[in-house]
Amino acid sequence: MSLSWSLAATDGPARAGTLHTAHGSVPTPTFMPVGTAATVKAMTADAVRETGAGIVLGNTYHLMLRPGADRVAAFGGLHRLMDWPGPILTDSGGFQVMSLASLRKLDADGVTFQSHLDGSRHRLTPAVSVGIQHKLDATITMVLDECPPFPVTEAQAKSSMEMSMRWAGLSRDAFVPRPGYGLFGIVQGSVFPDLRRRSIEALMAIGFEGYALGGLAVGEGQAVMYAMIEATGDLMPADKPRYLMGVGTPDDLLGSIARGIDMFDCVMPTRAGRTGRAYTSRGVLNLRNARFADDGGPLDPACACLGCRRHVRGYLHHLFRAEEMLGPMLLTWHNLTYYQSLVAGARAAILAGRLDAYAAAARTAWADGDQ
Ligand SMILES: [Zn+2]
Repeated sequence: MSLSWSLAATDGPARAGTLHTAHGSVPTPTFMPVGTAATVKAMTADAVRETGAGIVLGNTYHLMLRPGADRVAAFGGLHRLMDWPGPILTDSGGFQVMSLASLRKLDADGVTFQSHLDGSRHRLTPAVSVGIQHKLDATITMVLDECPPFPVTEAQAKSSMEMSMRWAGLSRDAFVPRPGYGLFGIVQGSVFPDLRRRSIEALMAIGFEGYALGGLAVGEGQAVMYAMIEATGDLMPADKPRYLMGVGTPDDLLGSIARGIDMFDCVMPTRAGRTGRAYTSRGVLNLRNARFADDGGPLDPACACLGCRRHVRGYLHHLFRAEEMLGPMLLTWHNLTYYQSLVAGARAAILAGRLDAYAAAARTAWADGDQ
């Protein structure tokens, strides 16, 4: 039986559930830390587990170029290579090709590009991308799609979406079903509700183990992003997981969970952690700021991560000022712990039928701030 998802409770459109996979079960809503190059940057696999993460994300584009999909397969797959026996979702590579590769050329069947590392030429088609993700041993494979730029005209968004839907069918054909593994389709259509509705209908006609919303959080703003989630919410199958790709801030997560999203990934907590920015129950703090130099309190009194339990803010401030590696390590650990506690809290609130109150309390604490 393929990967599946079961519903435990609803609270309005919000859903608490469980993802069942070949590599274990994950409570949802869930946030997936981004492990771009077979590592969540600055974190050991044990540390990632301690944050509460149940599933991580890998990047097909990066891994196909370095160390290479065949090499990952020879080492026994991404799970063994990363020491992450839990579920792994890999993206298709399409998004990174469009944002990182040079001399890329898109055609009706795929995309040809040069590596940003060494200029070598590569080609991704729906079948090639699915085949690479198979070699990586991805628990969840994503279809190859085109993420159109923003803004884009409705005519361009339509032709791009229609090509992505054709590619979704070719991805399905190429995917080898295995027990507990799955393939997710990706809804496109930019900021046009009608295109997004046609996209989800096309995907459901093909049939996937989960449905992702792509092409959002690209500059359209939170209100438009929410409108696009709502545009397809009623059409999405009730018994399949819904994944909002590349999102987002803690506030984006709460707003999207309230609109029925089950899965998220984003570089924000890890990237911010490496630059001294902390997401906390009292809002965003910049640890490089001089006001923390003599601060003897914990980063976030409500957090149970290593840095919050064992160190004072003044120490974290010092580590960033001195450019010590431990600073990014501790702050990445904290930010991921905060994200995991936020979605775990949202899940508990859905089960208790009080998600609105939970989200309101979180937002009030962010707004009240640190002082
Ligand atoms: Zn912490």
